[in-house]
Amino acid sequence: MPSDQTPKNELRFLDVSVETIIESARVIKAGGLVAFPTETVYGLGGDATNDAAVAAIFETKGRPTFNPLIVHTLDAGQAALIAEFDARAQQLATQFWPGPLTMVLKRRADSPLSLLVSAGLDTVAVRVPDHPVASRLLFEAGVPLAAPSANKSGTISPTAALHVATHFRDGDGLDILLDGGSCTMGIESTIVDLSTDDAVLLRPGAIAREAIEAVIGPLADPTDDGIKAPGMLKSHYAPSIPLRINVTPEERLKGEAYLTFGPDAPKRAALNLSIKGDLKEAAANLFAMLYALDQPGIRGIAVMKIPAEGLGLAINDRLERAAAPRDETPPKDRP
Ligand code: AMP
Ligand code: MG
Repeated sequence: MPSDQTPKNELRFLDVSVETIIESARVIKAGGLVAFPTETVYGLGGDATNDAAVAAIFETKGRPTFNPLIVHTLDAGQAALIAEFDARAQQLATQFWPGPLTMVLKRRADSPLSLLVSAGLDTVAVRVPDHPVASRLLFEAGVPLAAPSANKSGTISPTAALHVATHFRDGDGLDILLDGGSCTMGIESTIVDLSTDDAVLLRPGAIAREAIEAVIGPLADPTDDGIKAPGMLKSHYAPSIPLRINVTPEERLKGEAYLTFGPDAPKRAALNLSIKGDLKEAAANLFAMLYALDQPGIRGIAVMKIPAEGLGLAINDRLERAAAPRDETPPKDRP
């Protein structure tokens, strides 16, 4: 498994064939990352059930926050193993899958998905791509793939393999780039949130709003309170017990659980995000450990200082939101 300690990998830029797709699936099952074509844009794919692979996606993209990622499945049947489909979702799946429609649905309680892929939310964004290479890769991998666009955060989405190559010339965590030609649509999927009673159009995209409304009726627009950027919805992010950050061993209160980081951390009554001080490992463990410590009878969670570099920025962003006062509405002016 690649980590901060291992030397940078070399990117393998491969033409599509049955053999290279099977090799890509092998790399994905081993926790690696593969860029692959879909009908919308190139995706940066990893095993959506593997926390470490999902953490590697965030690191490779250089994302400063943990935005939830879109999970790609082979078909509606595989999607139904990870998310709950109500009548609206079933109708839309029948009408538009495979295709560029992403639905935000409730995660199934028994979903094998990584918690990080939903950034700690109880929902998941799923879609079934309509592209022979993406479909074959999903079939061979046998797991759902978390796949945001295969570019560095904040840059234009890649619609050809060469675009992807410019972002990851030196690998940078990307193991294989499958060249499957240009994406036919070239714009991102439409995202509809069906996790509440009112369906919300979160992102306009390749499928027209009217086409969706013709199937399930009017779509609402996202409100200002942060649905567009779920990372800002504090209620979704905070554990039920209080959380304090940057707490030294001396400052820790009696009855508080201690979430630590690094080799020098105290070992008693603590969960360590990464004993070797690896931020990617810490990101992979973050949500699972917060859930584990969020127990009745525990006074609160004290978190040790996490270095503010690399994936530490996203970890700190997440922890700051969880530590913010609970009773106020989320600030709208956060980055
Ligand atoms: P990208 O993967 O870069 O195409 O972006 C994915 C988009 O889907 C982002 O705007 C996310 O905020 C949104 N998204 C993914 N999962 C969820 C979710 N569970 N709830 C709301 N929005 C989501
Ligand atoms: Mg993107």
